[in-house]
Amino acid sequence: MDPTRKLLVVEDNPSDLRQIIEMLHDSGSNMTVESVETQAAAIDRLAVADVDVMLLDLGLPDSQGLETFVRLRDAAPGVAVIVFTGSSDVEVAVRAVREGAQDFLVKDRVNGELLTQAIAYAIERKHAEQALRESEARFRTLAESSPLAIFVNREDKVVLANPAAAKLFGASSPDQLIGRSALDLFDPASRSLVRERIRVDSEEVPLVEVRIVRLDGTPVDVEATASPFLDQGVKAIQILLRDITERKAADEALRESETRFRTLAESSPLAIFVNRDDKVFLANPACVQLFGASSPDQLIGRSALDLFDPASRSLVRERIRVDSEEVPLVEVRIVRLDGTPVDVEATASPFLDQGVKAIQILLRDITERKAADEALRESTEDLLRSNTELEKFAYVASHDLQEPLRMVTNYTQLLQRRYQGKLGSDADEFIAYAVDGAARMRTLINELLAYSRVGTQGAPFVLTALDGLLDDVLQGLEVTLSEAGAVVTRDPLPEVWCDPTQIARVFQNLIANATKFHGTDPPKIHVGARLEGEEWVFSVKDNGIGIDPAYFDRIFVIFQRLHSRAEYEGTGMGLAICQRVVERHGGRVWVESKLGAGSTFHFTLPAELEE
Ligand code: ADP
Repeated sequence: MDPTRKLLVVEDNPSDLRQIIEMLHDSGSNMTVESVETQAAAIDRLAVADVDVMLLDLGLPDSQGLETFVRLRDAAPGVAVIVFTGSSDVEVAVRAVREGAQDFLVKDRVNGELLTQAIAYAIERKHAEQALRESEARFRTLAESSPLAIFVNREDKVVLANPAAAKLFGASSPDQLIGRSALDLFDPASRSLVRERIRVDSEEVPLVEVRIVRLDGTPVDVEATASPFLDQGVKAIQILLRDITERKAADEALRESETRFRTLAESSPLAIFVNRDDKVFLANPACVQLFGASSPDQLIGRSALDLFDPASRSLVRERIRVDSEEVPLVEVRIVRLDGTPVDVEATASPFLDQGVKAIQILLRDITERKAADEALRESTEDLLRSNTELEKFAYVASHDLQEPLRMVTNYTQLLQRRYQGKLGSDADEFIAYAVDGAARMRTLINELLAYSRVGTQGAPFVLTALDGLLDDVLQGLEVTLSEAGAVVTRDPLPEVWCDPTQIARVFQNLIANATKFHGTDPPKIHVGARLEGEEWVFSVKDNGIGIDPAYFDRIFVIFQRLHSRAEYEGTGMGLAICQRVVERHGGRVWVESKLGAGSTFHFTLPAELEE
């Protein structure tokens, strides 16, 4: 026996004590032995915690029977106790063992060997017991503080539940669960699974998803693990539950958004495919249609690059890369499975597809748009061509007509001068008509010539002070204005880059019209100018007869007039020329008016037109 082991003999009978020491000595034990005679002395001695085992006589001067044991056990819970008793005390000794004594020996029936062995066993048993108690305490703490709900099921009854289990089931304490049928804690729909998998004779059951029912009846989704064990010889099962409501909700949300995106892609009119490792990995129905395939399988697995026209591949390779930023619209050409090329607009956005770099490519067929663009370009070209031809024609016609017209004018005027009053009054009248007609024709031809020359014979733009230009225009119109009794007011005008002769013509036409088309009141005319953004807006406002909005477009067409010559003189060319001039300067011209309520003609000129 280990000499460091310390035995305390509590014995008031000196001969018994001597016998014990002799027996120990005889059996070769060399453990340290001390002795005391009373309970009080024993308690004092045990205060120093170096005693391993106690040999206790239950009949002491200051204490008797079980009482003796209980006091000393409580005084030194870590010390193994062997009750050493006379044969008359055996019943008490048995009770002491029940209360935690390691053993009991009856005096006179022991020898040295038995005593030494009993002492050794008692020490071992005490240690084991203590270790067990400690580990039990540890496990209890673990279970008590575990965030996992834990309960133990024995013979289909809950025999143990931790606070987390109480919380999970909505119980106010674990006691509310104890004694209940474990199966009843589960949702009826989960019970067959629980019955089948969570059995006492099963292996450890890894995670199963089941549904429990809280005490208030609400169901909760949980993940359950079960491990069977022997609880004091009875088959039992420990069940661990984890609330997965949140995880399930997250899963559900994920599934829903996945479905939504899938639906989106499936129903998208844009062709979408996903490229992973230069292979088509996914293609939507619109994509299948675009490539003239009969199903996505015909595209999946193909080299994505091969889907593009050879001429587009370098652009695709360079721009549509997995490590690129999102690539906004590029125009490329794909090749349908039957070999026909299709112009498309492509957008690519790289993303991580389950950790693998991938790229999503959106394609839009732009064949129609391209065709429309082309048609527009062609018709614009046609228009330009026919316009130029028309201009040339108008010029040639008006120019070449001038010569014979001059002859007609000259000779009719000659006739008038020589034969006025000699051929009868009818002849005088006819000649007057011919002279008048020829003069009018000259005006028309001159106007047409002016119109055709706006584009071809305009002067270069110079920076022009419009105030001075307007002064000149008003000067030229002086007679007309004063005859009509017109009053002209004006805003200060800016300097602009323009062809001054042409712009003077515009002001002149508009002011002349404002004077001409007056009502009963004498004309009141205002020339305005205001800067709007990048352009000047000029206006010529009158108080005249006004224009029915139905004719706003018509009055700008050549030779179009709303009145007979008898009512108002004119050729119908003035506004057509104004429009061409303003358009040549990059501006617009329009009218605001109401019949009988005056008119305002507006035109714009760029504010900073550099040469
Ligand atoms: P013209 O003045 O030679 O008739 P324009 O091309 O200048 O030709 O004008 C076309 C028509 O627009 C005019 O005949 C007239 O009916 C209408 N119009 C032009 N200016 C005005 C105005 N200030 N007020 C009313 N009507 C106008």
